Amino acid sequence: MKEIGKYSIGMGDRFGRQGHAQLKAIIEAGKKGIEITPVWNKSNREHNIIGTQPSDVRSEADTVTRNAGFKKSYFVDADHINFDTVDRFIDCSDFFTVDVASYIGKLASRTDIERFISFASGYTGKLEIPGISKTLKCSKEHLNEIAEKYLFASKKAGEIYRKIEKQKGKGNFVTEVSMDEVVQPQTPLELFFILAMLAGEGVPLQTIAPKFSGRFNKGVDYSGDPLRFATEFEEDLLVIGHAVKEFGLPENLKISVHSGSDKFSIYGHIGSIIKKHDKGIHLKTAGTTWLEEVIGLAEAGGEALEFVKTIYIKSLEKIEELCVPYADVIDININMLPQSGIVSHWNSVKFAASFRHIPGNRDYNPNMRQLLHVAYKLAAENKEHWFRLLDEHEELVAKCVFENIYDRHICRLFGIS
Ligand SMILES: [Zn+2]
Repeated sequence: MKEIGKYSIGMGDRFGRQGHAQLKAIIEAGKKGIEITPVWNKSNREHNIIGTQPSDVRSEADTVTRNAGFKKSYFVDADHINFDTVDRFIDCSDFFTVDVASYIGKLASRTDIERFISFASGYTGKLEIPGISKTLKCSKEHLNEIAEKYLFASKKAGEIYRKIEKQKGKGNFVTEVSMDEVVQPQTPLELFFILAMLAGEGVPLQTIAPKFSGRFNKGVDYSGDPLRFATEFEEDLLVIGHAVKEFGLPENLKISVHSGSDKFSIYGHIGSIIKKHDKGIHLKTAGTTWLEEVIGLAEAGGEALEFVKTIYIKSLEKIEELCVPYADVIDININMLPQSGIVSHWNSVKFAASFRHIPGNRDYNPNMRQLLHVAYKLAAENKEHWFRLLDEHEELVAKCVFENIYDRHICRLFGIS
């Protein structure tokens, strides 16, 4: 079976130009003894907005790894696909993020629900999970509620998985199941039974992306109580370990944290908990590489600075249109966005600092950063100019991309000093 490594990072590269700089961060971590499997991901949403094809991601990944002489495994992720959107990803992907969020809450047939309840009823009452001191309790009624909420979605995951398996062959790809783009977080108890359902469907998932409590907004820090997150994360991790044994899921099944870039206030917790239990992690970064491209061009000054300022100014005009596809995963306070008349006077340093993610910097503005995060469509509309500027300032941009992934993400998460 194709197996994902213990540590892996999902890296988005919307315009397909920074794969080499991203890979350099992975190679650098390897030199420090942290082996990370690179996974290039791009969602259907991003492909549609930019006008690219999944095969573009495959050719970028193949090219940069070949050029760097990178001999370890790497993956191309069909990110957030479902039954209707998976087709064009099947040939060129070997990692599939099966997104069942939109099926949660839909009712499976009563026969299926009853069948699941009779299978799982042995786990009602007191559920002892090794490592979790408090006992999780599940009544029959609660089990019924969980089945009503999640069984249909789990069966859909099975259907999508089998569709992919039929074309790619068993064991030739990695399966992730994601449920993160929903309003309600899943409790550890729910997660346990969801895993039972997925095992019942024969989905050999190696990563699972639950929805945690708190906000995981794109490109900015975690918003919520980091200690509460840590407790929840550790419980999820122990529940997964137990479910693997009980239901015969793949031994390497691990948590995938979506919109996982920039969550600096919880990296320390994640890092120490996975170390404590000797578990792996998949960190899926949002498309923050695009922001680093904008930062690099801002720093370059001159025409490049003017170009990215124009993107910001246009994004103020088109804010609603740009934010709609991301409504659940951004929180922008529009009163905190500097207006065009002000920004047009800013120099390189001030403009770049306003959306580079350095929390202590007094110029840093998370509202501006989130807006720019979703504004990549505006660069895509002016591709020729955008690519020319990226080419002209390639070294500066690559440096920003590398530093962001390596210094701010990998080093913090894995405790590299
Ligand atoms: Zn996600």
